[in-house]
Amino acid sequence: MASKGGLFGTNGIRGVVNQDLTPQFITDVSLSIGTWAKENSRILVGMDTRVSGPFIKGILHGVLISMGHRVMDAGILPTPALQLLTHMYADMGIMITASHNPPEYNGIKVISGDGTEIDESSENEIEQIFMNKNFKRSSWKSIGNVINTEGLNDVYVGRILSLVRSDEIRNKRIHILLDCSNGASYGTSPRILRELGLAFDTVNCQPDGTFPSHPPEPKEENLSGLSRLVRGNYDLGVAHDGDADRVVFLDGQGKFIPGDKVLAIFTLEKVKRKIGTIVVPVSVSSAIEEIAKKYGSKVVYTRVGAPIVARKMIETGAIFGGEDNGGYIFPEMQYCRDGAMALAKMLEILSIENTTIEEKIKELPEYHNMKGTIRVEKNKIGNVMEKILDYARGKRIVDIDGIKIIEGESWVLIRPSGTEPLLRIYSEARDRSTAEKIFNEYRELIESILREI
Ligand code: MG
Repeated sequence: MASKGGLFGTNGIRGVVNQDLTPQFITDVSLSIGTWAKENSRILVGMDTRVSGPFIKGILHGVLISMGHRVMDAGILPTPALQLLTHMYADMGIMITASHNPPEYNGIKVISGDGTEIDESSENEIEQIFMNKNFKRSSWKSIGNVINTEGLNDVYVGRILSLVRSDEIRNKRIHILLDCSNGASYGTSPRILRELGLAFDTVNCQPDGTFPSHPPEPKEENLSGLSRLVRGNYDLGVAHDGDADRVVFLDGQGKFIPGDKVLAIFTLEKVKRKIGTIVVPVSVSSAIEEIAKKYGSKVVYTRVGAPIVARKMIETGAIFGGEDNGGYIFPEMQYCRDGAMALAKMLEILSIENTTIEEKIKELPEYHNMKGTIRVEKNKIGNVMEKILDYARGKRIVDIDGIKIIEGESWVLIRPSGTEPLLRIYSEARDRSTAEKIFNEYRELIESILREI
């Protein structure tokens, strides 16, 4: 199971159905969450379109009501919709999803009453209960019930529509091809586009947990079909991941727009209007900081991981934050990644400025990036990182997450993966050849360290 040694990995509890996630395991996890929750809680439970969703949901519902909790069944909805609705209507939430993982996977994400993912100390508490199996029980008289709250999706859609200039978007009529990856956004994103009066077509917008068309991860290599359809026929291609906390864009030529660029477009839009703090992980392009500084705003860096970015945004009162993988956090909506909100915001920007995403990218400072991975056994990672530090001694080093070595306008970041025996290498420079040079320098360094130890 993808996990950091205990029950929870970087993305909640995740694993292969009926292999890791057996009925017994789901029962114990449900009992642990139910024991951890405060007595008689209202718990909103939602899921994505995975085939195993109803199986996991059935157990969760049964166990939680047996413990005296009241379950609100939200049905299928995007993770950010569940997070918003939990904040508005429930004491806590549970999302059954494995986001972008292959169809045989599923998972469970626990959401606090404020709509954010629970923090590490709460995860540890649930894990302790899981290990000790000291589950609470309630008497037959206080068994809870399940109520159907599927209609609450309307509230999520309505909230997004209220936060953008629908009049401007309606007037420009950007022509869109939307790909929901057969995931949880099938009931919300097409509706948002329809209510905005846009001319759009859809692909893979019917729910299908076998993901027949492409894996539900919106990466460039998974979207070649969408790219062919968009090229020359639409102004914009749009794709969500399986649980729709992320969104990616393709331009009118069908070209995949890297997440760094979209993050920079949103940052520019925010800092132009208001001076404030932007929160991003250390792995994103320096373009974000350059844009923020130009308008008198500042950037606060964090470790990689959307919940970490979200928590730092709350702490700093940030005006915007996000990651380079399609996850964007708009505090006026809520403190979590929200694919449909980011889609609506992008449409607003392009409509108000009467422009295209290709043109917006030309306004951004130019940087070039390289990304890659090297397999390193887990027990060797500490040793390798120390030797990299030795090598870089005397240079400017940032150690928020892994080691980031900064030289002028170029940098390289080496960080261990949270889930796999891998080191990730990122490099960035003003020109491609320098970015490649630094990338190769550190890749060769790591290879030579590995030969020695
Ligand atoms: Mg996701």
